[in-house]
Amino acid sequence: MTETDPMLPTEQGKPDPNDSAIEDLVACPTCDALYRLPNIPIGSRARCLRCHTVLTAPREGAMTRIAMLAGTSAILMIAAVFFPFLELTAAGMVQRSSVLDVVLVFADGPFVGLAVAVAALIVVLPLARFLSLIYVLAPMGLGWRPAPYAIAVFRMAERIRPWSMAEIFIVGVAVALIKVAGLASLSLGPAFWAFVALVLITAVKDNFMCRLTIWKTLEHRSQ
Ligand SMILES: [Zn+2]
Repeated sequence: MTETDPMLPTEQGKPDPNDSAIEDLVACPTCDALYRLPNIPIGSRARCLRCHTVLTAPREGAMTRIAMLAGTSAILMIAAVFFPFLELTAAGMVQRSSVLDVVLVFADGPFVGLAVAVAALIVVLPLARFLSLIYVLAPMGLGWRPAPYAIAVFRMAERIRPWSMAEIFIVGVAVALIKVAGLASLSLGPAFWAFVALVLITAVKDNFMCRLTIWKTLEHRSQ
């Protein structure tokens, strides 16, 4: 992988207002330094000179792969909701529960708000994000024109990203399990492992995703 130095706008003199080059201006997402990015070749990456944040890293076939990983995540999420998550055995009693059971337990009581929040943050928002990524990226991975409202859908997917908390849920569950392990014997169901796989795939997918390339492709193909 080669590293391409982004060019500072000052190195190229003042931007010409008649030039469409203003569209090439990119701000570093971490420190706001402004760069004029030339066309970065596929397989190389551009880093911020000041804070070394990766500005763009276009890769061959990335959109198809992200769409496929999002599809895998969506299937795993459905498995994670309906399959048993935990099996507790204490004093001869066996209690098996899925994520759906947990949400439903809280649904008709004073904690209905909690049930809605759990369902939204752990299941609905991550699932909405996976489906919107498929909607936006699958047509582009195939080289087609973007789907209708693709820009708005991708903007929404980016906005709900901080609110998709499947990984935080797994950390919370791990902490709770350590506490409960002394009281009852417990075994982890398929849904737990589906969640773990989901979190890992989401991490790989987000690492693979070059937002700048996606935005540029969306704008370019929407015209
Ligand atoms: Zn920076």
